[in-house]
Amino acid sequence: LLRASGIRRTYGSLQVLKGIDLEVKKGEVVAIVGPSGAGKSTFLHILGTLDRPEHGEVFIEGVNVFTQKDKELARFRNEKIGFIFQFHNLLAEFTALENVCMPGYINGNVNEKDIHARAKELLELLGLGGRMDHLPSQLSGGEQQRVAVARALLNRPAIVLADEPSGNLDSHNALDLHQLFFKLRDETGQTFIIVTHNEELAEMADRRLVMQDGLMVQHSV
Ligand code: ATP
Ligand code: MG
Repeated sequence: LLRASGIRRTYGSLQVLKGIDLEVKKGEVVAIVGPSGAGKSTFLHILGTLDRPEHGEVFIEGVNVFTQKDKELARFRNEKIGFIFQFHNLLAEFTALENVCMPGYINGNVNEKDIHARAKELLELLGLGGRMDHLPSQLSGGEQQRVAVARALLNRPAIVLADEPSGNLDSHNALDLHQLFFKLRDETGQTFIIVTHNEELAEMADRRLVMQDGLMVQHSV
């Protein structure tokens, strides 16, 4: 489903990714752990086609993604990939429900009713049924994070990339969220690649990968 090879990325003189390979099968839940500054977020952004590497290739469903022009790539991304950011990036002037609906409108050809229904269903599933009309500033950090999760799932992406999705959640909500990921995987065959400091989640995952200093240092099961 996804294959990355020889991924390198530098910022100025700093080599943040030093040649990373990764293969992920459909329906896998992969956890990536590692110290702060290891390059986890940078790598996830590249897998999510939000950032282009200097070297290396990423294939998603057989498509060599970085050979596409920005516009095609954006369309591909919106269709295939759901992203839960480390800092949730909700739009401040839109309500929770509107934020969740957003990815539904991007590629056009949409039925507004369907998008709304789907967004409401997701928010309810995430325990936010009573918070749909709140602005992000009126939500707690954990609630904002769950809105971002709902947004990432709206288009039923084949791949969900999550950067510290439970970082702002208490242990109860974190567990609920992790269980939701596994439930979705079982029901829909969606693939999850999750950067996390949460060892419980890393242990539950099909694979736990360790990144350190720009390299994958440990591929354990
Ligand atoms: P954390 O666990 O703290 O989120 P991380 O593993 O996600 O860390 P990255 O965010 O990928 O780490 O950053 C890796 C390195 O790249 C860090 O040293 C960071 O300072 C640097 N870096 C990241 N983004 C940029 C940027 N846009 N410009 C310059 N340096 C950057
Ligand atoms: Mg990070």
